[in-house]
Amino acid sequence: MIIKELKEKYLKFFKEKGHKIISGSSLIPENDPTVLFTTAGMHPLVPYLLGEKHPAGNKLVNVQKCIRTGDIDEVGDDVHLTFFEMLGNWSLGAYWKKEAIEMSCEFLTSKKWLGLDKNKLAISCFEGEPDKGINKDEESAKIWQSLGISKERIVFLDRKENWWGPAGETGPCGPDTEMFYWSSNEPVPKKFNPKDERWIEIWNDVFMEYNKRVKGQRVKESRAKDIKYEYVPLKQRNIDTGMGVERTVAVLNGKKSVYDIEPLKSITNKIQSLCVRLNLTHKKEVRVIADHLRAATFIMGDEKGIAPSNLEQGYVVRRLIRRAIRYGKKLGIDKPFTHHVSKLVIELMSDEYPELKKNENFINEQMVQEEERFGKVIEKGIKELGKMAIGQWETRTNSGKIIETEGKEINGKNLFYIFSTFGFPLEMSFEEINNIRKEIGELSLLSDSEKFEIEKEFQEEFKKHQELSRTATAGKFKSGLADNTEEVTKLHTSTHLLLAALRKVLGEHVYQKGSNITGERLRFDFSHSEKLTDEQIKKVENIVNEQIKKDLPISCCETSLEEAKKMNAMGVFESKYGDKVKVYTVGKEKEPFSCEICAGPHVKSTGELGHFKIIKEESSSAGVRRIKAILE
Ligand code: ATP
Ligand code: MG
Repeated sequence: MIIKELKEKYLKFFKEKGHKIISGSSLIPENDPTVLFTTAGMHPLVPYLLGEKHPAGNKLVNVQKCIRTGDIDEVGDDVHLTFFEMLGNWSLGAYWKKEAIEMSCEFLTSKKWLGLDKNKLAISCFEGEPDKGINKDEESAKIWQSLGISKERIVFLDRKENWWGPAGETGPCGPDTEMFYWSSNEPVPKKFNPKDERWIEIWNDVFMEYNKRVKGQRVKESRAKDIKYEYVPLKQRNIDTGMGVERTVAVLNGKKSVYDIEPLKSITNKIQSLCVRLNLTHKKEVRVIADHLRAATFIMGDEKGIAPSNLEQGYVVRRLIRRAIRYGKKLGIDKPFTHHVSKLVIELMSDEYPELKKNENFINEQMVQEEERFGKVIEKGIKELGKMAIGQWETRTNSGKIIETEGKEINGKNLFYIFSTFGFPLEMSFEEINNIRKEIGELSLLSDSEKFEIEKEFQEEFKKHQELSRTATAGKFKSGLADNTEEVTKLHTSTHLLLAALRKVLGEHVYQKGSNITGERLRFDFSHSEKLTDEQIKKVENIVNEQIKKDLPISCCETSLEEAKKMNAMGVFESKYGDKVKVYTVGKEKEPFSCEICAGPHVKSTGELGHFKIIKEESSSAGVRRIKAILE
């Protein structure tokens, strides 16, 4: 079975079970200050899991492209990818455990659907935390048993394994049950041992019953360790499932690795054909190059295309490409090659992701440019690492005065500098230093414990620069709007007023290009090529504040995309499946001040907002301006 077939079957199965097919979202989350990427299908659905009504109903299904930078250290093994596709079905307060597990079991094992062997299936459930009033999940285990899974194949595990979300600060969460499949030709062991890697996790059903939230009032200056949290039962109990497409197709074909199936098989083959020094021990390097360049292609080719840079998502792209290039060098690839790989990814995957084809020129150009840029600093970076490889020493006068310092200390701070300036990931710097030392011959190689200490310092430095740490912890994430504080909701409504005001002052060419809200401020990107004058900024502020003074009502309706367009609703919503959408209107229905397609939530009337103030206006990228604003 190929990937396309699995996706079609999944959507068909859940459609037959009364689910509505909804579109997947962009890899770049909207209105979410706490994460860089969409890491699971549930991510764009957080407002609905918290109780907002979804326009398509309370049973949903889709395919979602995901990026997990937190799994990067595992990439190269058989089952972890940076970019992967996730199938998901949801119940928003509709069905619960029994139905969810029964459907999972039917889809996996029924001959009509995947026809997997029930005797190769194993299950994990949550072991419970009685002190917190959370019971061992015997209920799920019993349901699995009633469906023919033997007791020996069901284990109970702790929070680390069988509790989903919010690895970040706040948001919906709950215990889960995970499904594993035996991937080896050897006989299936009677007893399930989750540590045995021949059992591959393919699917996870989460029982979202809790909202983890900040206890009491969040004080602006409070540090994470001072904040107290509480688990409150959600208004509705939700089901949230996630099935890994690549892993499932691998086991369906009797393979144990996601690189043994298309499209990754062709991509790794292509990379092998470019290598000069390839040998059998280079399996991991080839896999990493394939994974990283595919992920970079998808981020650059996203609906919100991101170029390599030193900031946020752009920095991740840069890091992925550069890491791939370094591995390429190791395998003897001397010529620029990344664009050959991105071309192949586009060729193989744009049928299902047409945005790749649309952005093809951009992606390939960026690959070439990034490879050129890295080519320029790579020698300098290695030179700097050479200084560290020989260690640091001082030349002193007789009186002890230092007259010269040579070399450089190997420590987390210096290696972070190498990382941030030359784009050398830490493990690659270690490799480089040890290579240099091997050549010199006299110096001892960095040991694992030395590396461990250095890595700790490096991570501290890293946190300070708060890059990827925001998406760390093995694929889990902080769920942005989940922290549905009043402030965020108010600022969210303010962005609607802001967009309408900008269009009044600057013209109808102004569209939203991006939005990011924290509890403190909104950040709004829009199409416009010139700097705003002070006068224009004042005008925009005044218009927004006038609407606030008028205390306009905010109403919401659900409708088809067609109808929404007829209402002149603004929105970047692309619908692949004829979804229903929500339209939020500010002001009277006949002559609204603002009308936008949006998931919500919003305040009831503009009077709640306070005083709107723009604190910064700057360029974001070519043809796009950025405004930061607050409510006082
Ligand atoms: P693992 O423990 O194997 O890292 P997980 O528990 O982090 O997986 P979930 O967060 O439950 O995974 O995600 C749901 C499904 O998505 C998994 O069952 C798996 O099939 C798939 N998946 C998760 N992470 C990856 C990844 N990095 N690459 C490919 N598929 C993945
Ligand atoms: Mg994981």
